[in-house]
Amino acid sequence: MALSSGFYSRYNANTMTELPRAKTIIEPFRIKSVEPIRLLSTAERQRCIEEAGYNLFKLRAQDVTFDLLTDSGTSAMSARQWAGIMVGDESYAGSPSFQRFEAVVQGLTGLANVIPTHQGRSAEFLLMQAMGLTKRDVVIGNTHFDTTRANIEHSGAQALDLPCKESADTQSEAPFKGNIDLDALAETLKKDSRKVRLVIITVTNNSVGGQPVSMENVRRARAIVKPYGIPLFLDVARFAENAFFIKKREPGFADRNVRDIAHEMFSLCDGALMSAKKDAFGNIGGFLAIADPALAETVRSQMVITEGFPTYGGLAGRDLEALAIGLEEILDEDYLTYRLRSTEYFGEGIRAAGIPVIRPIGGHAVYIDAGAALPHIPWNQFPGQSLSVALYTGIGIRSVEIGSIMLGARDPVTGDERPAPQELVRLAIPRRVYTQSHVDYMVEMIGHLAGRLRELKGYAFTYQAPVLRHFTARFRPLE
Ligand SMILES: *Cc1c(COP(=O)(O)O)cnc(C)c1O
Repeated sequence: MALSSGFYSRYNANTMTELPRAKTIIEPFRIKSVEPIRLLSTAERQRCIEEAGYNLFKLRAQDVTFDLLTDSGTSAMSARQWAGIMVGDESYAGSPSFQRFEAVVQGLTGLANVIPTHQGRSAEFLLMQAMGLTKRDVVIGNTHFDTTRANIEHSGAQALDLPCKESADTQSEAPFKGNIDLDALAETLKKDSRKVRLVIITVTNNSVGGQPVSMENVRRARAIVKPYGIPLFLDVARFAENAFFIKKREPGFADRNVRDIAHEMFSLCDGALMSAKKDAFGNIGGFLAIADPALAETVRSQMVITEGFPTYGGLAGRDLEALAIGLEEILDEDYLTYRLRSTEYFGEGIRAAGIPVIRPIGGHAVYIDAGAALPHIPWNQFPGQSLSVALYTGIGIRSVEIGSIMLGARDPVTGDERPAPQELVRLAIPRRVYTQSHVDYMVEMIGHLAGRLRELKGYAFTYQAPVLRHFTARFRPLE
């Protein structure tokens, strides 16, 4: 189309001032490779969930439309990461893919000794073994993730959680509800510091709703433990999300870049553990990064029995290559803007539909307060279970109950059920996988479901295993 010279003189692109900032947050990527997702009918999903004994862990993944079971290992890798898969070097020892991985982790953390592991929990296992923990020892955390707790307890030691007080109020808008309780930490050490062998701060704090930890909290925790000579480790599964929350919420960080903020946080610790299935966009992988060369050497010599040689640690060279690239990509602030905003947008949509969620919305997931949403279902009829079955049957969403099924227990003597502190349903968001229209669709459908919550019924166990019962349990709906 021909344009008059008048148009150019009035709308010269070179002199155009900026348009207003868009309210819509876009996915800062385009799609090169796609996977179909299936939209089953409600009747089909009803059949699937019945066959699964009303346990979402037992569904076939292909019968799920939106799989929000976990953000772990479910990321979409980038074209660059897939290219890395092809150039990965599979040498048994001293692979250049390890060298690239090591250099990236050293650059990011400033920690000299980098040890790859097949996932986060094996980094935890190796650390607890290498520290030689015994049943007299205590490991303190802001809130230990469940595998971390399991590995501490497996070593014989006690895992002690000291979450900050604000984390107990699910509706408070405190900006750093992932923090460790500094007074309780100081108090515990004053009483008996000899028992305490290690402090682990998990960023973001997964177990209290993906809530961030402030730089000041880590700095002050370090100042408290340092005089006792107790090492401070960080569990950095979601270090980039945490660093971006610091940039957005903590005074003095708005103009710093995320790499720089992450680097500062790493400079405060003696070591880090990471599940690279989270903030490294990996489908598998993890690492330990340790300042103390002697401790690192103990890990390296012990890991050969289970993980393999210290330059591959249970991974293929191609995995190390993809993780090295992912650890750089995760620091992209356009990505992090989209990541945190889209999670928040999802949470706000659910809340606007009248369903209460943990506030503020965390980094990787939205947590619905099912106990409050379904007040007519008592805890021992599992409101979280009821809501997660309805989210699947009605919409095709797979979520996970974090309430009295997962965290409660049956008394072995009386057979009575014991409750969890809260009845939650978690909707975890895989990285770079679902789009804005997927989120809009889910919010719209959750809005329809919100009008029908009163119709939902409770559940009862028909089978439960003695440990980790949520994975294999079967249920029946109550009348
Ligand atoms: C996932 C996770 C782990 C365990 O990592 P895996 O890779 O699943 O073994 C440890 N800590 C936190 C905070 C996690 O989110």
